[in-house]
Amino acid sequence: MLREHDHGAIVRVELARTFLGHVIYHVYCYLIDGLLIDTGPPATAAAMARWAAARRIRRVVLTHHHEDHSGGAPLLARSLGVPVEAPAATVRVLANFPRIPAYRRLVWGQPGSAELKPLGDVTETERYRFRVVPTPGHAADHVALFEEREGWLVSGDLYISPRAVYLRPVEDAWTILASLERLRDLHPKLLLCSHAGLVADATRALERKIAYWRGLAERARQLAAAGGSVASVARRLLGREGAMALISLGDFSKRNLIRCLLEDPGGPRRLGD
Ligand SMILES: [Zn+2]
Repeated sequence: MLREHDHGAIVRVELARTFLGHVIYHVYCYLIDGLLIDTGPPATAAAMARWAAARRIRRVVLTHHHEDHSGGAPLLARSLGVPVEAPAATVRVLANFPRIPAYRRLVWGQPGSAELKPLGDVTETERYRFRVVPTPGHAADHVALFEEREGWLVSGDLYISPRAVYLRPVEDAWTILASLERLRDLHPKLLLCSHAGLVADATRALERKIAYWRGLAERARQLAAAGGSVASVARRLLGREGAMALISLGDFSKRNLIRCLLEDPGGPRRLGD
């Protein structure tokens, strides 16, 4: 499924695999002045290529290698005849994409490989200039794109929700927090998120998420100091594990978030996979 949403200079492209007419999970890509940011999952690659062929696209940029962002890239690289660029670490993953876990293949499809070009520190269109901001934590290769004059911040998968309660073991909440703080300090006006869509009052939204996780860390520390286990602290603060934990066989879980927030923020950090 591909749906286009027009927001003036910004086109939001909604992509999802459907099952019996129902959307399983969606992701957004953005087209701004000829620049396509992210390409959707492998499952919608053909729809994306057909849609892109009818648009004026001058360049494609990926925020990180995850399959719901890079899955359309191999076909677009072959069919569009424009540069497809990504952070250097993303280029390395796409050169030989590893097999992903079964639940992710089901939701998005297995990505193929592609030869991409390394992204510089800045990417420009005729009217806009996006600064590339390294923002690890969700994925080691993750970058955000910031258009300073407009205050637009393309935040990839870093924001997602102001009260995110799930974390994967390969992700690091403290590295994500540092990246969120780096983005907040840019004072963005509008967030262009891959899952939440357009979020107005972007700086406040980032502050709310930072405050939520920092508050959660503080309460988790108090409960753990009083003898609570990771599982009991997670249940007390966030409730029982939900469908996400079940479907992903525990890869996404509330316990992962609490376990990470109970670690020493100054200790050795993961950068995401
Ligand atoms: Zn991701």
